[in-house]
Amino acid sequence: MEPVETRRGRWRSKRAAEDSQPVPGRSVCVVGGGPSGLACCKRLCDAGLRVTLVQESRGLGGKLCTKFVNGKEDPTLHFDMGVQLLRPAGPLADQLKEIVEPWPKAGRYKRISCAGDWSRWYVSSTQDLPVDNLVVGVPSMSAIGRHLADQCPNLQVHIDRTAHVEGRKYATGQWVVNWSRQEANLGQLRYRPELAEKVEEVERGEFDAVVLAFEANKILRGCKSGYKMVQPSITPSLRQRLDKRTKTSQCWNLMVAFDQELPMPWDAAMVDGHGALAWVAVDSSKPSRAKVPQCFMVFSTNEWAAWKQWSKKEVERVLLNDFLAFLKEVLGSWPPAPCFVLSGRWGNNTEAVITGVPPSGDFPARALGHFEGPGAPIWDREERMGATGDWARGFSVNDAYSAGLEMADAMLDDLQGKLAGG
Ligand SMILES: Cc1cc2nc3c(=O)[nH]c(=O)nc-3n(C[C@H](O)[C@H](O)[C@H](O)COP(=O)(O)OP(=O)(O)OC[C@H]3O[C@@H](n4cnc5c(N)ncnc54)[C@H](O)[C@@H]3O)c2cc1C
Repeated sequence: MEPVETRRGRWRSKRAAEDSQPVPGRSVCVVGGGPSGLACCKRLCDAGLRVTLVQESRGLGGKLCTKFVNGKEDPTLHFDMGVQLLRPAGPLADQLKEIVEPWPKAGRYKRISCAGDWSRWYVSSTQDLPVDNLVVGVPSMSAIGRHLADQCPNLQVHIDRTAHVEGRKYATGQWVVNWSRQEANLGQLRYRPELAEKVEEVERGEFDAVVLAFEANKILRGCKSGYKMVQPSITPSLRQRLDKRTKTSQCWNLMVAFDQELPMPWDAAMVDGHGALAWVAVDSSKPSRAKVPQCFMVFSTNEWAAWKQWSKKEVERVLLNDFLAFLKEVLGSWPPAPCFVLSGRWGNNTEAVITGVPPSGDFPARALGHFEGPGAPIWDREERMGATGDWARGFSVNDAYSAGLEMADAMLDDLQGKLAGG
């Protein structure tokens, strides 16, 4: 293989790079198969470019993801871990028509205000929330990612592989990207024992352009979590434009199931004023889900998540107790002991958007506000690398999808400009 320039190496002079450049944008590697990456793929594929998508987890869709505890074929114990509900707008709404259904029903979606302190939180009021245009993926949120990828003509997809941008080749100016899986850590082996058998495999491709479509913090600093080890790979110009302008936060989710159906008076609730709980959903009430075991998805507040470095076991004890006490308030009596409890952490959530749009509430509340106006995905036309994600626009799947389209448009404009200019 010819030598490539590494991230830490010298960057070629613009003149030298231009002399050896192929027409920009002919072949593109999009890293990240969330809504922003999938939108970018769609527009680039429609324009006839050769597009390769690399996604580190087993499913497409990014935070549109679902945990099937007993495997995909078994509809029981089925939790949407990230995105809870969508209010699709614009081009995304057209794309999703066949794969979503309305949820929650009118009268079953509440804002529950709490008061009290850490010794006891109690419900002070309950209000109906509007359900207009709210939908969920059917049979699960994770179906949406695959559906969006299926709309992209000739898209090459590599899933379950983490992409690393190695650098650019001197001779051709092309970006070299590899995708591989590192050795799994103990936590990952617990859920995916088959990873122990797999040796590290590394594949490479060379591309005229690269788009990084994931969390701003990971784009800037990389992230290490066993086989999902990502190193920062952005060009100095992208780094300068992203740095200090994006902020992230974290929250915990808690999956809880009961082996009987509880008489819940609602299906989804935004929780206000509670120190620990931000959101409670009866996932089993979503269309096409098994009713028993009855599955709940609970989100912590950002504040609770930031309070200390919680271990998973602690979350499964402390947040669970808060949730059970909350259910007691709602139902008037203690619920039975759950038959299943599992926690997960979302780190690197968008807290500040590059355009300056402020957050309002925790997730998912902040994702359901409507943001209009242009986004700010970043396209480095000298180096032919782009960065995009919800952080370029807002806090929702809609924002991420629009930011992905805008990224592709910036690249295509550049390509057309270059062709027109000879
Ligand atoms: C807890 C929570 C709840 C939310 N609820 C809602 C909601 O109800 N409704 C709503 O509209 N929005 C919601 N959001 C916001 C929504 O999830 C995001 O706005 C949206 O997913 C962002 O899309 P994205 O494509 O920018 O990034 P992501 O969805 O994060 O997708 C990026 C993908 O890139 C992959 N990736 C990263 N690095 C690499 C690499 N090196 N190689 C390969 N792959 C890589 C990641 O694995 C990830 O799958 C929620 C967010 C959170 C955190």
